Amino acid sequence: MVPFPVSNNVAGMSTSATLKAGQIAAKLREEGSDIIDLTVGEPDFDTPEFIKEFAIEGLGKGLTKYTPSAGLRAFQESIADFYEGHFGTDFPPSQVAAACGGKQALFNAACTILNPGDELLIPKPYWVTFPEIGIFCGARNVFIDTEPADFVLTAEQVKESITHRTKLLIINSPNNPTGRIIRADEMQRIVEVCAERNVFVLTDECYLFFAYPPAEVFTSATLPNELREYVCVAGSFSKTYAMTGWRIGYTIANEDWTRAMVMLQSHSATHPTSFVQYACAKAMQNPNKTLAAVNSMLGEYTRRKEMLIPALNAVNGFYCANPEGAFYAFVDVRDMLGERFKTSANVAEHLLRAAHVVVTDGVGFGADGFLRFSYATSMENLRNAVSRIQTLCKVDADTVVSTL
Ligand code: PLP
Repeated sequence: MVPFPVSNNVAGMSTSATLKAGQIAAKLREEGSDIIDLTVGEPDFDTPEFIKEFAIEGLGKGLTKYTPSAGLRAFQESIADFYEGHFGTDFPPSQVAAACGGKQALFNAACTILNPGDELLIPKPYWVTFPEIGIFCGARNVFIDTEPADFVLTAEQVKESITHRTKLLIINSPNNPTGRIIRADEMQRIVEVCAERNVFVLTDECYLFFAYPPAEVFTSATLPNELREYVCVAGSFSKTYAMTGWRIGYTIANEDWTRAMVMLQSHSATHPTSFVQYACAKAMQNPNKTLAAVNSMLGEYTRRKEMLIPALNAVNGFYCANPEGAFYAFVDVRDMLGERFKTSANVAEHLLRAAHVVVTDGVGFGADGFLRFSYATSMENLRNAVSRIQTLCKVDADTVVSTL
């Protein structure tokens, strides 16, 4: 076979750690093991019925052809109107561009601003795709360490990391994997620090609306206009509306950035599926129905979180702060590291082999010593997983005591 001369940019990329863990789980399940998979970053709820009906309506209306690369005008307008109605924003529809999911929105935004050699600031822990985007663009990834006690990014930390080469900061709030939320005032300070040094900010808001009180839902689209000039919001329907397979997201950015992203997209995906755009536009035009669906999912995530977090904290060696948003528990297992388990990957492997529970190791997120548990799965799965882990850790503890 001819060795395939893969391009340098792609050769530098690696498979997502979250996908890898899921693949191991799927393989073991195929082999007959009773696996509980807590790696999945995908809502276990079905897409709300009325959104499916809007998609069918779109097909009935003949929306089966190309749309403009920025998306249907109705899509752009419905996003601008929805944000205005809910958050009081005032950006025009021309600053909205449709994309094939949050991932493409992020790629469009990063690829249109980063040149080889530019520095991309990425706070740790990060969502697995962020460094890969930097690598693909030939940029230099510069990581910002946050304190493991709370993983909160501050404007001060950002300021210290900026050099004359810094072009872009990428932020994700509510955060995957930590569940942390950057407060509105801190976000404003972060963007101010960046704007002062002509650094742009890409805010991944894919988990918008998944905030547990007292944390509040916040979008950078509400920042003052002079700061928004520096910001591109990447939004997605995947998580918030349980629409991962529909592949639809969007960007909100100034006209020049939007024009560049639309140009790039016009030569790649062209645009997201026409009747999917229609369904999303209709959903945004019915905010009461749409937000009711989101709130019902958020209620269920809240119930799961309230069961899961104390249960995880009861496990010897585990510590987990209360998530403020998204649907992940990020468990600190550093107390367990030593002779027996050298890294959190060893702990994850132990949970997999001995309790048949798959979780994601923190290393893929730049946080060795942590494990990510997704609670986008049924309460029954979560209870069983926790009970298996508690039993295993008790057996482990008894074994250690008896061998002393
Ligand atoms: N951003 C974050 C932080 C995510 O966790 C994900 C998906 O896991 C995405 C973006 C991309 O989502 P999608 O492309 O399905 O909109």
